[in-house]
Amino acid sequence: MSLKQDLRSVRAALRRGSPVVVDVPPAIRFVLLQRYMDMSMRNGRLSLGSFGILMFGLGFEAPLLPRIIAWAALAAVFGARVVLARRMLRRLDPADPRSDWRYDVLVLLASSVWGVAPIAFHGWVSPLSQYCITYAAFVATSLLAITYIAALPASVVMVGASVLPLIGFMALQGPTVMVVLAFGTLVCSIALQLRVFSIHGTLLQALAAERQNAALVQELQSYRRTLETENATLDSSLRAAALAANRDPLTGLFNRRHIVAFAESLAQRVRSGEEEVTLCMIDVDHFKQVNDRHGHPVGDEVLRAVGALLGARLREGDCLARIGGEEFMIVLRQCGASRGRRAAESVRHNVAASQIRTAAGEVPITVSMGVAQWAADEGFEAAVERADRALYDAKHSGRDRVEIDGNDARRMSTIPMDLMASGPMH
Ligand code: GH3
Ligand code: MG
Ligand code: MG
Repeated sequence: MSLKQDLRSVRAALRRGSPVVVDVPPAIRFVLLQRYMDMSMRNGRLSLGSFGILMFGLGFEAPLLPRIIAWAALAAVFGARVVLARRMLRRLDPADPRSDWRYDVLVLLASSVWGVAPIAFHGWVSPLSQYCITYAAFVATSLLAITYIAALPASVVMVGASVLPLIGFMALQGPTVMVVLAFGTLVCSIALQLRVFSIHGTLLQALAAERQNAALVQELQSYRRTLETENATLDSSLRAAALAANRDPLTGLFNRRHIVAFAESLAQRVRSGEEEVTLCMIDVDHFKQVNDRHGHPVGDEVLRAVGALLGARLREGDCLARIGGEEFMIVLRQCGASRGRRAAESVRHNVAASQIRTAAGEVPITVSMGVAQWAADEGFEAAVERADRALYDAKHSGRDRVEIDGNDARRMSTIPMDLMASGPMH
């Protein structure tokens, strides 16, 4: 904000009703106002000095009445200044950026009173005393003006409206010493005004910095919002990618990669005998004929339907995957070979008994299954191999059947039948 803009905002404020207002952000206004107040309070000694000079000028020459009037007026102005300044300090409120119009009025009134006072004394006191009065008036009103943050325009008005005409008036009085003193006062007034200007400059710099900060904060917030959106997009595409990496796109079932990882996660429990796990390898019978007869798309439909049928009979913890063209695999948890075979039998029966409806009509489908219990002393691959061999046997024994691995079958034949049958069905 330039000084011109600042003054324009002051003029606008004047039109709104407050004599002098500078619109500044409350936080900055608060800090600067505190600083102004501080400075003003410390300048009290200077005020006392000027008061002394005035008393010196008046004490010797003026008659009693004007002397008493001048003292009273001066004491009133200083008293009002101290009271007002203290009250403003107490009331400094960062949430309320408005200026106190009474203070502005006081500044302007004091300027006028003190501008007129020395002229009123003309003829009663010597030119030297008149100079003293002028000087004291100037210092008093200046201090009054700079006490207040928004007083820069007020103090400019004050110098223009009261002090300069006074100096001119005194210069016209004649004696060389008066002219010199008048110019001294002028220099002093300019120096004081420069001080006010420099403080005002600080205020403007602080305002500019504050505005820049606000712009930066806004920019950062918009960056953050963009980043958050991008992160969310990335997150969801990562999730989709992770999902896709574990799924078979045709049937929506898990793929080989997932079921292998799933089985590996059980390896420790199987090794320690904590859990029995049985594997089923499944292959659709004569599937090539389905493709050949009805076409590949119908074949795809059948594969999707078979996937759904295979999953329908499984328990919560079991895992079903499509591991090849028309090959599937099931990992049955908490399940030994005997119960695994019954589960496989139930699945096989479910497929064979179902009518798979396709675009080419109903397609009868059967599956062959090989079952092997994952032994505690073997790796997952070895168990898969045994289940695969059992599947091969199922194919060679005529298809649409479940075969159990030879080792498991032998082991099962040593277990009493009533024990084999125990436990809930799949
Ligand atoms: P078997 O009973 O001995 O298993 O005979 P089969 O015809 O099922 O076995 P084979 O291995 O000869 O044929 C498997 C067929 O599965 C061959 C291939 O075209 C088909 N196939 C593999 N993947 C897909 C697929 O994703 N969609 C379709 N529609 N067909 C597939
Ligand atoms: Mg096959
Ligand atoms: Mg097949």
